[in-house]
Amino acid sequence: MNYVSTRNSSKIFKFEDVFIKGLADDGGLFVPKSLNKYSQKNLLEFKNLEYKELAKKIIHPFIGDFMSENDLSKIIEKSYSVFRKKNVVDLVKIGDRSVLELFHGPTLAFKDVAMQLLGNFYEYYLNSENEKINIVVATSGDTGAAAIDAIKGKDNVNIFVLHPNNRISPVQRKLMTTGKEKNVFNIAVEGSFDDCQNLVKAMFTDKTFAKEIKMSGVNSINWARIIAQSVYYFYSYFLIEDNNEPINFSVPTGNFGDVYAGYLAKKIGLPINKFVVATNQNDILHRAISNGAYNVENVLETISPSMDIQIASNFERLIFDLNNHNDKKTIEVMKGIKENGKYEIKKESLDKINVDFLSSKMDEIEVLNTIKTVYKKFDKVLDPHSAIGYGAFDKVNLKGNNIVLATAHPCKFPGAIEKAINIKSKLPDELLFILNEKENYDIIDNDLDKIKHHIKERI
Ligand SMILES: *Cc1c(COP(=O)(O)O)cnc(C)c1O
Repeated sequence: MNYVSTRNSSKIFKFEDVFIKGLADDGGLFVPKSLNKYSQKNLLEFKNLEYKELAKKIIHPFIGDFMSENDLSKIIEKSYSVFRKKNVVDLVKIGDRSVLELFHGPTLAFKDVAMQLLGNFYEYYLNSENEKINIVVATSGDTGAAAIDAIKGKDNVNIFVLHPNNRISPVQRKLMTTGKEKNVFNIAVEGSFDDCQNLVKAMFTDKTFAKEIKMSGVNSINWARIIAQSVYYFYSYFLIEDNNEPINFSVPTGNFGDVYAGYLAKKIGLPINKFVVATNQNDILHRAISNGAYNVENVLETISPSMDIQIASNFERLIFDLNNHNDKKTIEVMKGIKENGKYEIKKESLDKINVDFLSSKMDEIEVLNTIKTVYKKFDKVLDPHSAIGYGAFDKVNLKGNNIVLATAHPCKFPGAIEKAINIKSKLPDELLFILNEKENYDIIDNDLDKIKHHIKERI
């Protein structure tokens, strides 16, 4: 498959470049130059496959020039053997909707599903290339842990993780900072997640620096993550498929990565009806999708910190699609967002967006109330992010089979759970030990030069 950048649709890249670079040199995001659609017959062949088999089928066309089907097969087996469920994910019924539990991996959030695979892609790549690279990644709490778990102890690769100091839950932090491997470095930045993300972007766009340290990225803009995440849309769709009933997904959203993966599944032929883009009080995507107002505001701290974002990086991929892959127009829009913090979506584009996407927003009280109601009625504990996804279906009117993506295990956010229902949500036994382990991280100002210096000293 050939790839282009959203800011230059004529230069062609192969999957290997797309994966290793993460972000294109021109600041754009990588997307396939064109996509083939599965036929009804193809979809039928996928219907009864186990998760891992399905993953091979879906992922291989995207990476075919990078590794053989046989190598991919081995990597998928290895990556998903660390999950607590044989089929990686679990679909459970809670009330009138289905909940797709994506948090059965090593760090208890959906990001493990993509990241375990990426970790093994790196290993494969580095074995064949004989080079040493440095991964630098910003996290709102979950990406970092998932990336560290996937990379720790691997040869020829270091990982530097930037998280916003004091703005992630202690369990999230401990999952990142208690490891002992020498190739893992945690940095707590005095700033927000958007600040961390901007620092990483700035390091990538500084080509001298990026080259010098052989920098690579695993943020949710990395196309490999998007592909890996599309798989569970297929898997859950087939589990629930019931002839003529439309199927909708509600996706708790921050960076627009996970929901874009669903949209990709739809673009390659999975007949999903609608996606509900479910946001917390940081509702830039809700304002964009309901009113056309993509206006950047200040980030508010919430009990769903993994969605405390005002700049939804992956949205650029949708902007590129809406402009019929016109790179000049995409550059213009992105420049406007950068300079004025604004993008007013024209009615014609908004109508196009609303064919696939609806949106909703929840304030803090509503999130706590949703956790409480679900617990009282169904005896199930949702984490705050998943609760936002669950409650979203009460805010939009969609008929059919509704699937909620449950993105994290409630024990990652014990403060919120205790506040909502006054119970302590325990970590799975095999992770209890992290609570007493020594933590290791450096607190650094929100200052590009200081952070670059810190990284260079350690490689
Ligand atoms: C990262 C994350 C999200 C948001 O995912 P995006 O791909 O950034 O939209 C939602 N919930 C949890 C628990 C997360 O870790």
